[in-house]
Amino acid sequence: MKMKVSVIGAGIGGLAIATRLALRGHDVTVYEQADVPGGKMGQVRWKDFRWDAGPSLFTLPDLMEELYVMAGEEMKLNIRYEQLDIVTKYFYEDGMVINAYGDPEQFVREAAEKTGEKTGRIRRFLKKSKIMYELTRDVFIFGVFNTISTFVSRKFLWAALQIYRLEVLSTMHGANKRRFKSPHLVQLFDRYATYNGSNPYKAPGTLNLISHLEHNLGAYFPEKGMYKLADELYNLAVRKGVAFEFNTPVERIVHSEKVVKGVMVKGETRTADIVVSDVDIYYLYKDLIPDMKFPEKYFKPERSTSAMIFYWAIDRPYNDLELHNLFFSADYKAEFDHLFGSKTIFEDPTTYIFVSSKIVKGDAPDGSENWFVMINTPENIGQDWDKEIKNARVNIIAKINRILNTDIEPHILHETVRDPRSIEAETFSYRGSLYGNSSNSSMSAFNRHPNHRNDFPGLYFVGGSVHPGGGIPLCMASAKIVDNQIKKHIIQQ
Ligand SMILES: Cc1cc2nc3c(=O)[nH]c(=O)nc-3n(C[C@H](O)[C@H](O)[C@H](O)COP(=O)(O)OP(=O)(O)OC[C@H]3O[C@@H](n4cnc5c(N)ncnc54)[C@H](O)[C@@H]3O)c2cc1C
Repeated sequence: MKMKVSVIGAGIGGLAIATRLALRGHDVTVYEQADVPGGKMGQVRWKDFRWDAGPSLFTLPDLMEELYVMAGEEMKLNIRYEQLDIVTKYFYEDGMVINAYGDPEQFVREAAEKTGEKTGRIRRFLKKSKIMYELTRDVFIFGVFNTISTFVSRKFLWAALQIYRLEVLSTMHGANKRRFKSPHLVQLFDRYATYNGSNPYKAPGTLNLISHLEHNLGAYFPEKGMYKLADELYNLAVRKGVAFEFNTPVERIVHSEKVVKGVMVKGETRTADIVVSDVDIYYLYKDLIPDMKFPEKYFKPERSTSAMIFYWAIDRPYNDLELHNLFFSADYKAEFDHLFGSKTIFEDPTTYIFVSSKIVKGDAPDGSENWFVMINTPENIGQDWDKEIKNARVNIIAKINRILNTDIEPHILHETVRDPRSIEAETFSYRGSLYGNSSNSSMSAFNRHPNHRNDFPGLYFVGGSVHPGGGIPLCMASAKIVDNQIKKHIIQQ
């Protein structure tokens, strides 16, 4: 049955669902308020420099490969990507440096040699993260979450029986502290809580499964940079017949007694049988269906972190840096107390430096580098961001100078800055949070908005603010779930 589908938003989730539905023969139009596709996966340019503006880590590429397979095309003809030999280079304030090699055994040896931790413990942890991922994947990541059938399914019951293996009752930090003697390794693995904007001192130990993605399955990088992923997904969607309207904000979802009729654009109704929203769920309810009761329960959990990013054009190479580098705070606990407690930025913030020109040669002129320097920030609750930026910049520069034994300021040719305000304004992400709600409680998986409301036929939700969560792989997963739901609902009709 051919359906008329409106997709609101051309973020990664919106692009993926539009392509999937076009491949099933539906008539799909994507409305995007910005003038380009990608949403948070954008890019910044200055003279001959280019920066990926948002995501910099690419894991689970199979989810993107799957779209090309469905389309009968070869992904590598459009996007070539390589597995990273060194996923991240970790720098500590006491001078320790750990290379997180992509090869698990090489990483185990490096981590043990640098920290004195027993190789067996690190190996056991990597095995454990794999088990946790495999136990939860089908239910918590690719499973539908708003039907009773989820909770009586064999997979859910099996996962529930294995709950003692999922570290649900411990925090991530608590579990890692019991596991490792080395505080450096505890910090390294605690860090994965930030991959969905959470706090390792509150998030359940189950989040240790995230390590599996990088350490066992591998981290990748597209030959032409991260934005290429969004650009090529857009091109694939166009080739498969999806229509795009840019600079076109959707003003309302049009419905009659909660049965979808279409979307309102420029004051006119564009009819549709199905509407899929890739818009942050808060703004969806507030602006696009204000006549619906606001579902408070989904907004009670803490929001995930936002970010402050300095895009620097650097006039010289730094050979000590890899593609991904992390300069840890000397007091991780205090940093998270600031992020989630006082909602301020700690004076010694963990600083992430991503240099895509290490791989993408065209991203900076010869002899120069494009630095993406990011720190986690609290959600935007009206802090004085100009002041925060000024203070953080001083602290970040001091940290870089200490760790790299350099004087970075004279080498910064140009600077662009993004902060929670601009992230919120540009992509309509509530409070600038990068991943919707945080996972700071063991119930967080149950507190995410589902991909479909049974009482609102025809309306579906994808993207980082709904189940299964934020981050590129999870947004792709949300599109896969919605694709299956729509298929099922059409068959039932
Ligand atoms: C600085 C930064 C670093 C990150 N790092 C990583 C990383 O390393 N790895 C990772 O996996 N993830 C990372 N993320 C998170 C990742 O970018 C997001 O999870 C993902 O891109 C969100 O995609 P989405 O489908 O939810 O849509 P979004 O990117 O949120 O896009 C939503 C789109 O909807 C449009 N829109 C909103 N309202 C309307 C309307 N009314 N009408 C029409 N259009 C509308 C917006 O303009 C936007 O284009 C990062 C994000 C940021 C900002």
